[in-house]
Amino acid sequence: MIVPMLTLERTTRQFTEFIVSVHQYFWNMTTKRRKRLRSLICPGCAAVGTMRQILYGMPDPDVFDFEKYAVGGCCMNGDGTDPDIQCRNCEWEGLRKDLE
Ligand SMILES: [Zn+2]
Repeated sequence: MIVPMLTLERTTRQFTEFIVSVHQYFWNMTTKRRKRLRSLICPGCAAVGTMRQILYGMPDPDVFDFEKYAVGGCCMNGDGTDPDIQCRNCEWEGLRKDLE
């Protein structure tokens, strides 16, 4: 009885580590694209450089930068219509490709 319990625990831990590493990967990708985001003009309030990327999924509150990114929640349409940027000034949301 003890051995299967330990195995289960180890499997769970590996799964958790996998989730963390995926988050890290996603994190690095979005950080690289940050500079171009600053040059976008908001269609809602015409401010420049107020756009921030919307991240979907459950963020880790310990490492998530709420100033830099908006949280889109864990529900996506998944058909390319989900907004991926948000203005921190007027809360306008939309697709980044429409502004570039
Ligand atoms: Zn705006």
